[in-house]
Amino acid sequence: MSNHEASYDFIREIIADDLKSGKHSFIKTRFPPEPNGYLHIGHAKSICLNFGIALHFNGLCNLRFDDTNPSKEDVEYVESIKEDVRWLGFDWDDREYYASDYFDQLFEFAVQLVRKGKAYVCSLSQEQIREYRGTLTEPGRNSPYRDRSIEENLDLFQKMKAGVFKDGEHVLRAKIDMASPNMNMRDPTIYRIKHVAHHRTGDKWSIYPMYDFTHCLSDALEKITHSICTLEFENNRPLYDWVLDTLETDCHPQQIEFARLNLNYTVLSKRRLIQLVEGGHVSGWDDPRMPTLSGIKRRGYTPESIRNFCDRIGVSKRDSIVDMELLEFSVREDLNRHAPRFMAVLNPVKVVIVNYPENLTEELEAVNNPEDASMGKRKVPFSRELYIDRDDFRETPPKKFFRLSPGREVRLRYAYYITCREVIKDKDTGEIIEIRCIYDPETRGGWSKDGRKVKGTIHWVCASQCLRAQVRLYDRLFTASNPLEKKDGVDFKDYLNPNSLEVLDDCPIEPGLKDLSPGSNCQFERQGYFCVDIKDSRPEYPVFNRTVTLRDTWAKIERRGKK
Ligand code: ATP
Ligand code: MG
Repeated sequence: MSNHEASYDFIREIIADDLKSGKHSFIKTRFPPEPNGYLHIGHAKSICLNFGIALHFNGLCNLRFDDTNPSKEDVEYVESIKEDVRWLGFDWDDREYYASDYFDQLFEFAVQLVRKGKAYVCSLSQEQIREYRGTLTEPGRNSPYRDRSIEENLDLFQKMKAGVFKDGEHVLRAKIDMASPNMNMRDPTIYRIKHVAHHRTGDKWSIYPMYDFTHCLSDALEKITHSICTLEFENNRPLYDWVLDTLETDCHPQQIEFARLNLNYTVLSKRRLIQLVEGGHVSGWDDPRMPTLSGIKRRGYTPESIRNFCDRIGVSKRDSIVDMELLEFSVREDLNRHAPRFMAVLNPVKVVIVNYPENLTEELEAVNNPEDASMGKRKVPFSRELYIDRDDFRETPPKKFFRLSPGREVRLRYAYYITCREVIKDKDTGEIIEIRCIYDPETRGGWSKDGRKVKGTIHWVCASQCLRAQVRLYDRLFTASNPLEKKDGVDFKDYLNPNSLEVLDDCPIEPGLKDLSPGSNCQFERQGYFCVDIKDSRPEYPVFNRTVTLRDTWAKIERRGKK
């Protein structure tokens, strides 16, 4: 992997110090997704960080599913998460763990807490628990069940496990401090009754441990050294430490928080993304407009560009919103180097070269990627009838329009100079249906021997030898830069961009494109980067997704910033 030597951030600094001081000799991290949805680009930041750190310090990173809420979880999500982490380029070998594998041990830990007088069965209702909890400005009140005897607690907890009670009848709570300024320490619930089958443990359990109890103990059981999570868990850290200290576990990982990735013009939250999927606003989790890893993969983003992006945004303690343009910049940068170029016409109009022989087809040479000579050259067929893009012709050209117009000479890329002589229109609609041109045979390859210059170069496709394809043009999924901004009566879905997808059918494309396999990236010259759709593309009718346009406003912004 080329880029795991990420820049030094504050977390790597802490770890380097721990290695230097001898606190640790081997580093272990984990990526702990909850399998309740597909991973998004925010998770990529966490994956690159956790796996990247392990690679950086010759340690190991586990993949651990935090599967403690069976009503929202599914094996479909487990499978997609594994696929996405692999796609990003990371490997957990055989270290695939599930919090549910620890349910027996976690139960024993809970029993230990009860025995130590540090946990109790509480029989208040959910609503009462909330009421007793107090507020940020007022301390909470002790539950009337707080002083149950250890024996009674053990008996009730066993019965909870045995399925004697209904959902919500009792919970197990840690006995900490109802007056703590940290709400998380006000006797948090650590087990609840849930008569729901689990995707791995089936009907074995009718109680399930809560996140705060499960997470720290799973980390400790796996001998994680640094438990890296996002800032919203900062206030959970005292509880993380309390559980491990109280239970005197032999391993006590250090929790370190970093700022989550926020991106403008999209939402990074599974809870909201699932609404887009279930509401039919997108075609699925892997819709190319989604910020999910499966969506951006289908869109044509490369794993390398995502890793570079994560490297670029860095890791900090301060929340910020990253510009979508920076992500697009990273994608362009990678594709510019690696994607072969082709010609495709998205909005075709026919050009007839009237002085070109009727039955001749030439094979002209085109460069596959001017950035990389090793990518070689290819042959492109050329004959009397071609397609060019409608936008490359103007009957009455405005100033600074250097492309084709009546009497004007332009270069057909890799082919010849042509001059427009006549425009044929549909009698009824007035629409241009054909542009008649002459070519200069002395300009083969697109260069004139007499040094004559033309200002415009346009792309084209041979009409008789082209393929036809569907081209899907994607734009931002939301029209607002922050769809989650709080406004009365406005839901984030109200900001969905109605023009985020435009489908073009029967676009003439260069025949060489038939050899691209699904998922392959390419550039359509002057149009943008595209990739062959992995789901819908067929050899007889390929489908191309626009990954990103060629316009590079981020580079411009950067240049402007430097001035
Ligand atoms: P969501 O809010 O989308 O549901 P989550 O935090 O609930 O996300 P988890 O499956 O619990 O999703 O997350 C797995 C790991 O990924 C956690 O360590 C979490 O902190 C991290 N993570 C989630 N979202 C982001 C983000 N936007 N940026 C960086 N890391 C993230
Ligand atoms: Mg979560």
